[in-house]
Amino acid sequence: MEHTDLYIDGQWRPGTDGARFDVINPATEAAIASVASAEIADADAALDAAARAMADWAARTPRARSEVLRKAWELMTARLEDLARLITLENGKARADAMGEATYAAEFFRWFAEEAVRADGLITHAPGSGARIIVQHKPAGLAVLVTPWNYPAAMGTRKIAPALAAGCGVIIKPAAETPLTMLALMPLLEEAGVPPGLVNVLPTRQSGKLVAHMMADPRVRVISFTGSTEVGRKLLKGAADQVLKPAMELGGNAPLIVFEDADLDEAVAGAMLAKMRNLGEACTAANRFYVHADVAEDFTARFTAAMAALKLGDGSDPSVDVGPLVNADTRDKVAAFVADAVARGAKVELGGTVPEGPGFFYPPTVLSNVPSDAECVHDEIFGPVAAIQTFTDQDDVIARANATEYGLVAYVFTGDMKRGMQVCERLDYGMVGLNRGLVSDPAAPFGGVKQSGLGREGGHEGMLEFMETQYISASW
Ligand code: NAD
Repeated sequence: MEHTDLYIDGQWRPGTDGARFDVINPATEAAIASVASAEIADADAALDAAARAMADWAARTPRARSEVLRKAWELMTARLEDLARLITLENGKARADAMGEATYAAEFFRWFAEEAVRADGLITHAPGSGARIIVQHKPAGLAVLVTPWNYPAAMGTRKIAPALAAGCGVIIKPAAETPLTMLALMPLLEEAGVPPGLVNVLPTRQSGKLVAHMMADPRVRVISFTGSTEVGRKLLKGAADQVLKPAMELGGNAPLIVFEDADLDEAVAGAMLAKMRNLGEACTAANRFYVHADVAEDFTARFTAAMAALKLGDGSDPSVDVGPLVNADTRDKVAAFVADAVARGAKVELGGTVPEGPGFFYPPTVLSNVPSDAECVHDEIFGPVAAIQTFTDQDDVIARANATEYGLVAYVFTGDMKRGMQVCERLDYGMVGLNRGLVSDPAAPFGGVKQSGLGREGGHEGMLEFMETQYISASW
C-alpha cells in the first residue's frame, strides 16, 4: 500500500482534481487504501510521457529491450510473497491462489524477454514479378491497456510484457477494485530499467470517460482489454472511430465434459482446478459440468467430497483455500444463480447458503440435476459454484457445449485420446483442456472465439498484437 497515487512519467502524482476512492479488503469490508482517481488532464500527461518514452524505447535493439524484461522477471520473482500478500488484501483470493497468480504474472516478463528477439519477418520472391517480398513487424504505437479485478497482476503483465517487447509505450487502467498491485509493480519495472513514461498507471473512478478520451488520441493505435463481453462490445465500437487494433479477452462459459471412460480421479482433480482456481472468479472457470450418466453419481460424490474439504475464510490466513468474492455485487449474483437453479429443480449437494459477514464470502457449492434452462448454464457464475448436468450421447453433449455465444475454453476428460481429439476439434472454443483443468500458460496463445474475444495473449501471437506488419516490395 506504499503507492496510492497515479504513476505518470515515472513519478507519483495525485490526480489533477484531487479526487480519491477507497479500496476495500473483501474479507473484512474495511477500507485499506485511498487511491488517486485520474482525470482527463492526467490521461493527457500520461499519453505525452508514453509517446516521448516510446520514441527512444522503440529505437533500442530487441536485445536491449529483452534484457530489461528479463530483469523485471527476476525482480518480480524475488518479491512474489509481497505481491501475493497485496493481491489477497485487495482481491480477497486465498494465499495459494495469489502466489499462483504472482508467479504466472512474472512469467510473462520472462517469456516476452525471450520473444522480444524473435520478431521474425520474411523475404521471398514474388512468384509473378520476381520482385522481393520483404515482410517485417514494427511497433504499432501507443497502447491503452484496460484490466479486470480478478487477476490484478497477471492480466496487466500479460499485456505490458508483450507491448514492451514489441517496442510500444503503454497506459494501463487497472480495475477500481484492485489498483494497488499494479501500482506496486512500478518500482520493480523502474529498477529493471524501464524508462520513465514508458509505462503509466491510471486508476480512476471514471473508466468510460477516461478510456474513451485516450482511444480518441491519434497516437494511440492499440486498445487491449480484458473484462466482460458487455464492456468489450462498447470498446470495440469506440475503437472503430480511430480504427484501433483491438485485443479483446472477454467473458467465458466453459463446459467441462466427463466421458464414461475417463479416469475419475484425474477428472475430479482437473474439475477442482478448472472450477476452484481463483475461487471460480476466472474467465476460464468451468461453468457447466456435463457428466456421462453412467459415472455421474460416482463423479458427483467424489467431487463433492473434494469441495467439502476446502476451508473458507480470510485469504490472508495461509490455511485457507477459498477466500471471499471481490465485492457484495459479485457475491449476491452468485447467490441469485444458485436460488434460480434450485427454484428450477436443481439439488444442492453442498453449500448454497451465504454465511454471516463481515466479508463477501460464498461457500464451495455443488448443484446436481441442474436444468438446462437455469440462468447459471447461460451466464458466467464467476464464483465457487459447480452446476452439474448429465448426458448420454456424444453428439448431443458437443451440441450442448457449443450452444452459447461464448467460446473461450472447454474441458474434456476421457481415457480415449482418439475420441478426445475428435471431440476437441468439434468444440467451438479458442482453447481446450484435454484431461487437464488448467490451460493458462505464458508460452501458449490464450484467447477465445465468438463473443469471448479477438486476438491472443501469450505465445508467439501475443507480441504481434502490439505490432504492425509492413511489406516492402523491392527490386535490386
Ligand atoms: P468489467 O468489464 O466490468 O471491467 C473490466 C475493466 O474495464 C475494469 O478496469 C473496468 O473499470 C473497465 N471498464 C468498465 N466500464 C468501462 C468502459 N465503459 N470503458 C472502459 N473501461 C471500462 O469486468 P470485471 O468485472 O472487472 O471482470 C470480470 C470479467 O472479465 C468477466 O466477464 C471475465 O470473464 C472477464 N475476464 C476475461 C478474461 C479473458 O482473458 N478472457 C480474463 C479475466 C477476466
